Amino acid sequence: MYEMWAEHDPAVSPPAVVWHVVAKDDANSSLCGRFLEPSQRVVPAGDAAAEAPGPDRYCDPCLITVREALAAGAR
Ligand SMILES: [Zn+2]
Repeated sequence: MYEMWAEHDPAVSPPAVVWHVVAKDDANSSLCGRFLEPSQRVVPAGDAAAEAPGPDRYCDPCLITVREALAAGAR
């Protein structure tokens, strides 16, 4: 099982929320190897998306890993 994890990416301007993917059995880091700091987590709530400074982005390495896992028949 996978979970989505949103973080503000400080490396981009204007600041954007980046979605990573976290495996349920390893919640300390994302699939792309990023260490996840719970205090950095962004929890979208209600119409928060309308207030976001920029469009959400998705972490490519994370998505590729998920795609490969699904293609391999992981369950
Ligand atoms: Zn990632």
